[in-house]
Amino acid sequence: MFSLTNLLRPHILTITPYSSARDEYTGTEGVFLDANENPLGSATSQGEYNRYPDPHQAAIKQRLAPIKGVRSEQIFLGNGSDEPIDLLVRATCTPGKDNILIMPPTYGMYEVSAHINDVELIKVPLTTDFQVDLEAVLAAITPQTKLIWLCSPNNPSGNLLQADAIRSILERAEQSLVIVDEAYIDFAATPSWTTELDNYPNLVVLQTFSKAWGLAALRLGMCFASEELIGVLNKIKPPYNISAPTQQLALEAISREAEKNEMVTNILAERHTLAENLRSLPFVRLIHPSDANFLLVQFDDAKATFEYLINKQVIVRDRSKVKLCDGCLRISVGTRTENDRLLEELRAMSTYPVSADLPLGTGDEATKPELVSNT
Ligand SMILES: *Cc1c(COP(=O)(O)O)cnc(C)c1O
Repeated sequence: MFSLTNLLRPHILTITPYSSARDEYTGTEGVFLDANENPLGSATSQGEYNRYPDPHQAAIKQRLAPIKGVRSEQIFLGNGSDEPIDLLVRATCTPGKDNILIMPPTYGMYEVSAHINDVELIKVPLTTDFQVDLEAVLAAITPQTKLIWLCSPNNPSGNLLQADAIRSILERAEQSLVIVDEAYIDFAATPSWTTELDNYPNLVVLQTFSKAWGLAALRLGMCFASEELIGVLNKIKPPYNISAPTQQLALEAISREAEKNEMVTNILAERHTLAENLRSLPFVRLIHPSDANFLLVQFDDAKATFEYLINKQVIVRDRSKVKLCDGCLRISVGTRTENDRLLEELRAMSTYPVSADLPLGTGDEATKPELVSNT
């Protein structure tokens, strides 16, 4: 039986949260002399930002709830996904005692957040096709495992994780929170795990406004979980964690969801075209299947390709030293013009011999991966 009380650090249960001026009087009419704000206005040329924002972001949650098929009380909003990632660690893990489990290769912030909080990390690599190694995961969980991180679609591999494996972990790891990071869910043809929140009290789903919604600069992340857990996150967050401009712009974006969907359609079409074109290049070995807005691509010589592109001011992400990503660059899908530019530079590169920087006669030839069909 899952018990949130057992999962939380004991002192979290007894914390009295900061009570803000906007908590103590929630009306919108009146003479506000309670928050030491500047009554005259803001030292800016546009907008009035002299009043503190809604600490509970009620308007956004009210609009978001029906779109996501959850209740307002099941939504936490953070300063990017980074904030709920960190708050989950701080709420549940006692340094030197508890641990969290991640499945590399995956998003780097889970590990960084564990390190910042001095919390032990258990790593169970994904299989070579970037799926959950279920038996290994179940065997690695200890009574001190408070958080299990899953990223689906996964960054940097781009693929969805098999739903059966996620479900098994939710059912078998019932003393841990199982977090499914769905930063790229808008690009995938599959329902969100938010639809399962009422079935699994240990399920947490992360999404973000940074990718499909096109609002990375605003820093707005979503966390969906049981009302009980959301209550705990609200209790320990900084009171005014989402700024007023962010709240205003997010509300506007939500009212224009159709535009987000159109951009997703466009990016998916470009992803297809980009993959087809990359496939025709002789030094591209493998394009991993993607359910996201990027492609993980294996090159004959990733390092040389990366550096060549940088010199041409085309910047991609070098993942070639990352576990299971040997020789791979991660390429975000750009606009048609941007993708064409990338392809143009790569075609130009292919007319020059790529430096094979393997020393001769070391036997490295034998360990070079087989030329895999690049489907
Ligand atoms: C980009 C990304 C995020 C988003 O982080 P924000 O802090 O919301 O910008 C979260 N998780 C993964 C796996 C990502 O790739």
